[in-house]
Amino acid sequence: VKQIAKFVVGLGDKVSPTDIEEGMRVGRQRILEQRKSLPIASVERRIVDEVKKNDTVIIVGETGSGKTTQLPQFLYNAGFCKDGKVIGITQPRRVAAVTVAKRVAEECNVELGHKVGYSIRFEDVTSSSTRIKYMTDGLLLREALLDPYLSRYSVIIVDEAHERTVHTDVLLGLLKNVQFVRSRSTIKQHNFDNKSEVSNKEDKSQCFSTLRACQGAKFTSLKLIIMSASLDARGFSEYFGGAKAVHIQGRQYPVDILYTYQPEPDYIDATLITIFQIHLEEGPGDILAFLTGQEEIEAVERLVHERIHQLPKGSQKLITVLMYSSLPSDLQMNAFKPAPYGCRKVILATNIAETSVTIPGIKYVIDPGLVKARSYNPVTGMESLIIIPTSKAQALQRSGRAGREGPGKCFRLYPESEFGKLMDSTVPEIKRCNLSNVVLQLKALGVDDIIGFDFMEKPSRMAIVKSLEQLLLLGALTDDYRLSDPIGHQMARLPLDPMYSKALILASQFKCMEEMLIVVAMLSVESIFYFPREKMEEAKAARKKFSSPEGDHISLVNVYRASAECLEKSRTANSKEKKFEKALRKWCRENFINYRSLRHAQDVHSQIQGHIQQMGLSLSSCGDDMLQFRRCLTASFFLNAALKQPDGSYRAMWSSQTVQIHPSSVLFRTKSECIIFNELVRTNQNYVRNSTRVDPLWLPELAPQYYAVEN
Ligand code: ADP
Ligand code: MG
Repeated sequence: VKQIAKFVVGLGDKVSPTDIEEGMRVGRQRILEQRKSLPIASVERRIVDEVKKNDTVIIVGETGSGKTTQLPQFLYNAGFCKDGKVIGITQPRRVAAVTVAKRVAEECNVELGHKVGYSIRFEDVTSSSTRIKYMTDGLLLREALLDPYLSRYSVIIVDEAHERTVHTDVLLGLLKNVQFVRSRSTIKQHNFDNKSEVSNKEDKSQCFSTLRACQGAKFTSLKLIIMSASLDARGFSEYFGGAKAVHIQGRQYPVDILYTYQPEPDYIDATLITIFQIHLEEGPGDILAFLTGQEEIEAVERLVHERIHQLPKGSQKLITVLMYSSLPSDLQMNAFKPAPYGCRKVILATNIAETSVTIPGIKYVIDPGLVKARSYNPVTGMESLIIIPTSKAQALQRSGRAGREGPGKCFRLYPESEFGKLMDSTVPEIKRCNLSNVVLQLKALGVDDIIGFDFMEKPSRMAIVKSLEQLLLLGALTDDYRLSDPIGHQMARLPLDPMYSKALILASQFKCMEEMLIVVAMLSVESIFYFPREKMEEAKAARKKFSSPEGDHISLVNVYRASAECLEKSRTANSKEKKFEKALRKWCRENFINYRSLRHAQDVHSQIQGHIQQMGLSLSSCGDDMLQFRRCLTASFFLNAALKQPDGSYRAMWSSQTVQIHPSSVLFRTKSECIIFNELVRTNQNYVRNSTRVDPLWLPELAPQYYAVEN
């Protein structure tokens, strides 16, 4: 719309209100035409009818067919928000929830946060008038803690269900239960003892406990829609008692798949070469390259910029756009802007661009065939992030992104023979992650029998037992495995990993809440520091300024405080928000701090602070007494303690694994006797990241439930 208004100026006219109105009308018209041309538009009637007839419907359609943006509007128009009810759409990723909500608000021509809104962890853009609400699946789970029957919602759409994130799987189990309760309560109030109504034995025990709890309440039935991009609708249909599946015919143009002759030893380098090869040799069209994480994406971005200058004079321009899940939301929107005229755009994205977001204009896809995934070893109880080959289904999704608007090309950076060796589909996350968060949430939702819970795919018994053990040691559960009061309840209220929640609760006792809040916020984001290859020495020197000999946690506190000081100074000097941003960007550049990550950490910080205040925990600071803070870290992260071995390596106490301190740690060279750490990274070795030096005698003192002095 703005562009059209400018266009009018360009013709030499003054912009009058009628011009702007005209511009907006044309903009709206264009959106309307685009919506009408989406594959889903032709099946609107059919889908609405199916949803009216059935309680659960499964919708399968390729990425870009219009499921996420259109379906909620269809249902809204069909009257599913009567009586102030809300249509909720869950997304596995924050980025998708935010970008899609913005797009739909624009399509509906309403201000974001009114009729259309979104709510993600640490950010709520909804109001009492919101009727179409996009949110992360994790957030809906948290809402269920306060409103167990999700009574505000008439429809819940579980989007991207094929991704099978741990939250999606838990949510599916929960929704099945809620739907059962709500349908029964509409048919027969209180008459729950009629056992013939419940067919499945497993359902029976689970539902009856909840049914009893809702006696007297009157609900309308809950419509459930499961949306998926992949072809396997059967699994979902079986889980929901033979639910009806509707297939939307996608628009897919042919995509040429190209493989390398030989395996590529360095996929980053291969990606770079391929980007420039496409740029110099192929026709117009944007490039989408799949990388594994923020750090890698930013490194490739810098390398692309370095090499752009070496291009022959007069070559077409190339711009980069980044897309990963922790990117601040204002920066996420850049990806959707078309490249300036005569420019080619290369989007460097994680697997969020596989299905979650649709970026127009892509003709070339570069797929190194790797993805960063959670991995869990139930024997050691350790979770780690590892880079693994994609599944065949993921590879197909990725290549499909090149053929949405016309024929395209996909460059797989591995030989064709490797493709045959890939797994058919990705293992659901619930089978490869630490379950303590899931168990805590289910307990808080009143599900006592976790092993008997009706999961679509059951996690291993061992993994469940390990997490029960962990929660018991953290004090979240009582000896008979019930949620403890107040600690367990408080921990379940905080939207964080149980260990971090415990750290905040303890921090109010240790009087170091300010410091712990900063640490938790900083640990929630990826890579605060960056080390450009060409300025390694400068970056290291800059980092030294913040380093604490005690460890990485205190160093993170130092960075956060220094950035806050910089903001404070520019705030007293200027009054305009833009100016602070500029000052902060400059400060970050000078100190080799990742601006995007720092911004994200600030957001997270203010949101957790809100939770802390709501819970009535005191916001104390330990000042310069970092001993107190390190003791609090020990009391919170005692399960992640490691002791130095004679050969200089460390032994992690909970998992008995041999680990090394990550080279990025300030403790890398000093090698203290005992450390606590936050994260295990597995490459060719087990590395622990973010560690702090502690006194080994603090372990039996502060965590006697786990450590005895003689050990
Ligand atoms: P699906 O959920 O089936 O993958 P979507 O509803 O997300 O499809 O997208 C449908 C179409 O809407 C896309 O092909 C794209 O043209 C457009 N679209 C979606 N999100 C945006 C956005 N944020 N900005 C611009 N266009 C968008
Ligand atoms: Mg979608």
